[in-house]
Amino acid sequence: MKVWIDQDLCTGDGLCEEICPPVFTLLDDGLAYVKEDGVVRNNPGGSQGMAVVPSELEDAVVEASEECPGECIFIERD
Ligand code: SF4
Repeated sequence: MKVWIDQDLCTGDGLCEEICPPVFTLLDDGLAYVKEDGVVRNNPGGSQGMAVVPSELEDAVVEASEECPGECIFIERD
């Protein structure tokens, strides 16, 4: 599973980071980005800043995408 965020739609509420902090983080610009192995994929973000999700975190990532008020967390399955 891979995940990315469309920062243009992100409201910056931080729900994703609350649900799954190993994968989601808010930066100083007030927007959420994904992380892979602790490295933030913010340059560039969006669909080009996609992160591979460890299998044990897949359920939490799905929950975050379902709860995301901006509906801007996108999951791609292998
Ligand atoms: S839950 Fe969605 S809208 Fe909220 S900070 Fe995360 S990506 Fe942005």
